[in-house]
Amino acid sequence: MKPHQSVFKDEAKLDINYVPRRLPHREKEQRLLREFFSFLLHFPGRMAQRVIITGDVGTGKTAVAQNFGAYITQEAKKTCKNLHYVHINCREYRGKLFLILQHLLSTFRPKFPKRGYSSEELLSTIIQVLDEDKAFLILALDEFDTFIEQEGSEAVYKLTRLQEMRAGQPQRLSIIGILRDLKPIERLDTSTKSTLQHNIIQLSRYPKIQLVDILNDRVAMAFEPSTIPEDVVDLVADLAVSESGNARFAIELLWRAGKYADAEDSDLVEPEYVRKAISSIAPVLRKSEIASLGFHEKLFLLGVARLFKESRRAYASLSEIEEVYAVVCEEFDEQPLSHIQLWKYVQLLSAMGIVKAEVTGAGIRGRSTRVSLSSVSASDLEKELITFVEKKER
Ligand code: ADP
Ligand code: MG
Repeated sequence: MKPHQSVFKDEAKLDINYVPRRLPHREKEQRLLREFFSFLLHFPGRMAQRVIITGDVGTGKTAVAQNFGAYITQEAKKTCKNLHYVHINCREYRGKLFLILQHLLSTFRPKFPKRGYSSEELLSTIIQVLDEDKAFLILALDEFDTFIEQEGSEAVYKLTRLQEMRAGQPQRLSIIGILRDLKPIERLDTSTKSTLQHNIIQLSRYPKIQLVDILNDRVAMAFEPSTIPEDVVDLVADLAVSESGNARFAIELLWRAGKYADAEDSDLVEPEYVRKAISSIAPVLRKSEIASLGFHEKLFLLGVARLFKESRRAYASLSEIEEVYAVVCEEFDEQPLSHIQLWKYVQLLSAMGIVKAEVTGAGIRGRSTRVSLSSVSASDLEKELITFVEKKER
């Protein structure tokens, strides 16, 4: 028997961390980003730039930033400028300035001792190192909202206005902040906010025709020729549109469909495999959606999952969930958030279709919010969340 050939030519091109060279339908935004930093190629020390990139999950924020990083460092090399682009996902460092700076410094001085320095000392060491190396740095802080949530205005201020305390010297550190929406920035104090609000690049959701182009590009890179019928790309794009134009979801779905084709020894990725793939991802368990939640949003949802798993009930009040959430926070060594904040989380999770929330009539304590899980098993949800929150803890 002939060994089965995979429909994939290069599966890695569908990996969520792969950054393609070409980003269809983001040309305008890429150009704008290059504009904002074009001075760096000619007069790198002249100013420190701050840019915000914002947009929903899967709109290409991370890809646009990383693609730009590759471009600018390559261009800088041509003119012998010592320019670095460092991309840090703040969530991986629990949004903590100290851990972020420690990591940043280690990219320049791997042997620098890890212990015994405060954030302030680390920050001034980084600037000192940049001075020594005559280097310029674009620091991209992805999932910037976790940083703001964790550290508040002061740290953001420190990081973004640092240069002003170095009047007359070359400006070495520019920042790109990447986050889902601008709300966390609006909550910052006035002066910090104003620094960040000048250069905002807003990425809108991809409509179907754009998703089709993005998918076709990826199909050509990742699949063997004529393994993907045209209507399959169409179907995947349609399904991703109902996922609010999420390109990550589209690519993940295409990859899964390919896996089904391989599993059944088919040399064609048929629509049925797409349908199988989508029904294999219970709405809530879509990794991309869970990954997009903030840390406390995850802890809160973990509380919800545990409550329903252990109580075996269908409904719970917000205050009951709050109690379980407080226990979860203790477990992860986190300070629980306020009632108001948690109420907002319920609204968010309900808008995402993960929980159902309804305000019930006057009970003893007045109106209260009754919460239930939508269409997911509590223990599956718990398992899924645990893998995320624990990864972050280590
Ligand atoms: P975000 O950071 O906004 O959540 P990402 O940048 O991670 O989104 O994009 C999600 C996935 O979709 C990634 O695999 C990325 O490479 C891909 N992607 C997003 N936009 C484009 C595009 N315009 N062209 C090609 N691939 C894209
Ligand atoms: Mg991202």
